[in-house]
Amino acid sequence: MINAVLFDLDETLLNRTNSLKAFLRDQFERYAEHLGDVQRDEWCARFLVLDRRGQVHKSVVYPAILSEFGGRTAFAEALLADYRARCSRFAQPFDGMAEALTALRARGLSLGIVTNGETAFQSRHIEALELDRLVDAVLISEREGLRKPDAALFLRAANVCQTETSRCLFVGDNPVADVLGAHAVGMKTAWFRGSAHWPEDAASNPGPSIDHLSEVLRLVK
Ligand SMILES: [Mg+2]
Repeated sequence: MINAVLFDLDETLLNRTNSLKAFLRDQFERYAEHLGDVQRDEWCARFLVLDRRGQVHKSVVYPAILSEFGGRTAFAEALLADYRARCSRFAQPFDGMAEALTALRARGLSLGIVTNGETAFQSRHIEALELDRLVDAVLISEREGLRKPDAALFLRAANVCQTETSRCLFVGDNPVADVLGAHAVGMKTAWFRGSAHWPEDAASNPGPSIDHLSEVLRLVK
């Protein structure tokens, strides 16, 4: 029996790619004169490549993209500060997020978020999606001093939800940090796959794959 459902944030509850695209279009319009010889769509597309689904820190991405397009690299810090301050205004959830979380809670399940990232930045996104009202626990790697796939972070999440790891279902998009990390401590898992591919050099997916958050309801029956 499942007592708690734990979710990753980026690309699992938060449609990070769409949110980031919307922010980048807005940022481009406000800073265009400093960004070099580039059109908006090309800038946004190149940013997403350099960002590698959030794997590359924006303190690296901004100087790199500015130098590629001949922009003013001295503006990297201003762009980064603007990203930190304003990105969450463009936060978009995946389809059915609030409905799925509300339905899970109505069944008496504890809900949590376990996310790798900076405390202030992730917290702003959680508030923007009103997730602070929809879940019971939020664990952010910077605040916890632990990052997925560290087993200690998954164990802490189960503990906060007052249950055992074997009674937790973890839902996430990252095969290694989320799915294999949670599986390693005995949690059930669901891979929210989106457009991602399971890496060939990783252990095989130990649980079901889902494409819509409403599918989580079926997995906790
Ligand atoms: Mg993610």
